[in-house]
Amino acid sequence: RDPNVKKPAWLRQKAPQGDRYTELKKSLSTLKLNTVCEEAQCPNIGECWNGGGGAGGEGHDIGTATIMLLGDTCTRGCRFCAVKTSRTPGPPDPMEPENTARAITEWGVGYVVLTSVDRDDLADGGSGHFARTVQRLKEMKPEILVECLTSDFRGDLEAVSKVVQSGLDVFAHNVETVRRLQRIVRDPRAGYDQSLLVLKHAKQIKGEILTKSSIMLGLGENDDEIKQTLEDLRSIDVDVVTFGQYLQPTPLHLTVKEYVTPEKFNFWKEYGESIGFRYVASGPLVRSSYRAGEFYIESMLR
Ligand code: SF4
Ligand code: SF4
Repeated sequence: RDPNVKKPAWLRQKAPQGDRYTELKKSLSTLKLNTVCEEAQCPNIGECWNGGGGAGGEGHDIGTATIMLLGDTCTRGCRFCAVKTSRTPGPPDPMEPENTARAITEWGVGYVVLTSVDRDDLADGGSGHFARTVQRLKEMKPEILVECLTSDFRGDLEAVSKVVQSGLDVFAHNVETVRRLQRIVRDPRAGYDQSLLVLKHAKQIKGEILTKSSIMLGLGENDDEIKQTLEDLRSIDVDVVTFGQYLQPTPLHLTVKEYVTPEKFNFWKEYGESIGFRYVASGPLVRSSYRAGEFYIESMLR
């Protein structure tokens, strides 16, 4: 961390609680399901898993959890991300789609986000694996809502199509930051225009799904650049955007340039909704999948 920038009190984490959280945590241990929520020690776990059925009681009664597919080792190395990297991660487990789908079905969340590391080593970038997982999940439990948060598949639009046509409800891909900072923040194989292309294609081939993207704040971007990014996303009909504070995972990663205040995060929520996003989740601890199930239902009722 930049020694001149002190971590503010609003980033302090709350201990998770709530009836459904306790129940889900207990049943998880028997299911062999790796949630990003637990592994990343996400500060939102209580709120997400409980959904509106939790202690607070507000919102829609649908819990959200994020599951990682395709292993824990990424073929890329973004300067904000602490995931392990290798050019040659092990091959994916061919039983993972079936086993993951079954475990999620037995587990009891209403909205699941499937995500993965980037797998540039695989011919289809792992898109077939994503698609099979969604298909099996929807066969076993049609009412479950599924979001896939994927890589850019190196701009391979056939791979994007495979995921989008799998039966999912939300297709998410993150631009991560404004155009100017892409080369500093993301792996050189990623890029702003490539990410926009992926999101645009997803919406073009299946208009009824929601498309979604996320932006980290605190990396040195300015307001005009954020507004431009929002306009670029709206211009290709992206429905949902989320904003969260960038936090430096280790001293080897990019330093935090600024801790954006909760008020400013609220400003971006209002601004984003005023220019036509169906919903905007924005807050210091917000992550791409933060309470995604509740927000999905809310935006569909509008
Ligand atoms: Fe899990 Fe995402 Fe919610 Fe964190 S924000 S608890 S990773 S669903
Ligand atoms: Fe992390 Fe994704 Fe970048 Fe891989 S591609 S290093 S998982 S942010």
